[in-house]
Amino acid sequence: MQQLMLTGPATVRWQEAEDPALPGPQAALARPVALATCDLDVAVLTGRYPLAGPYPFGHEGVVEVAEVGDAVTSVVPGDLAVVPFQISCGSCPPCRRGRTGNCAAHPRMSTYGLGEMGGLAWGGLLADLVVVPHADAMLVKLPAGVDPLAVASASDNIPDAWRTVGPQLAADPGAEVLVVGGDAGPSSIGLYAAGLAVALGAARVSYLDQDAGRLAIATALGAQVIEGPPPRKAGAFPITVDASGSPEGLRCALNSTAFDGTCTSPSVYLQDPALPLFSMYSRCCTLHTGRAHVRPAIPVVLDLVAAGFNPSLVTSAVVRQADAADALAAPPMKLVIDCSA
Ligand SMILES: [Zn+2]
Ligand SMILES: [Zn+2]
Repeated sequence: MQQLMLTGPATVRWQEAEDPALPGPQAALARPVALATCDLDVAVLTGRYPLAGPYPFGHEGVVEVAEVGDAVTSVVPGDLAVVPFQISCGSCPPCRRGRTGNCAAHPRMSTYGLGEMGGLAWGGLLADLVVVPHADAMLVKLPAGVDPLAVASASDNIPDAWRTVGPQLAADPGAEVLVVGGDAGPSSIGLYAAGLAVALGAARVSYLDQDAGRLAIATALGAQVIEGPPPRKAGAFPITVDASGSPEGLRCALNSTAFDGTCTSPSVYLQDPALPLFSMYSRCCTLHTGRAHVRPAIPVVLDLVAAGFNPSLVTSAVVRQADAADALAAPPMKLVIDCSA
């Protein structure tokens, strides 16, 4: 089969690899039908995040099940399903608590398509065939009528966005939400978060950014936009999201978190930013950061899509698989690859 390898910043190439075989009775083999770049992929491709190649590329996508092991009961060949980017067994103690990003059955942080950080053994999703080691635990069947191209990011970035606003709005229905975006941040996660907060019934969703393109998407998603660099404080919101990737954006989100509020940062900081800890202490402000545990959130976001949330508004471009390598040389914010075209 063919698989796409990342060999350096903005450098990818297709190469021949051995066809995978079913590794056990719980596993499935699947063919990708719609793939997406993750915000971290874009950071790697543009040299902002140091993840050295070569490694098999791609960790977001919808697949068609091709073959299943004898013990698999939830999917059959031909089913369309979202494959979580994190490998999880579904039965170890962390998986049973929904902490599927820390599955104890495999080396910590086991994922598709993130090089040595995620383990090279799982391969990447930009390949003709993909192994899903725990098909029943991992795969989430696509609801009827949901377009695979619309939810190609449901493996990672959309559920990552959901965890920044979903549980918080469930605990505080109708609360106001602030999302801070920025050039160095996980931009699609910030936009999905704004759109999901609108879909989940937040009273007001404010999206702060300097980029005209992202501001236009936020408007289309139903958010009110605040244009400009992050101020010291942008108001007082029970729920804030730092998708800026900048110390100034994080500080703005934290200073704008209301008394007893929660700020979630899906940004990855390689250098420790200064935190306004005394002010956070005074307001009883919670800061949550860390990798998302995506598997339990995937059915939730698929239901929101089936109910009308449109993640395609965040998609920058859709290309055929044959054009994927060229498109990845200058990656837009959110590239979707149509493997069936
Ligand atoms: Zn990712
Ligand atoms: Zn597990």
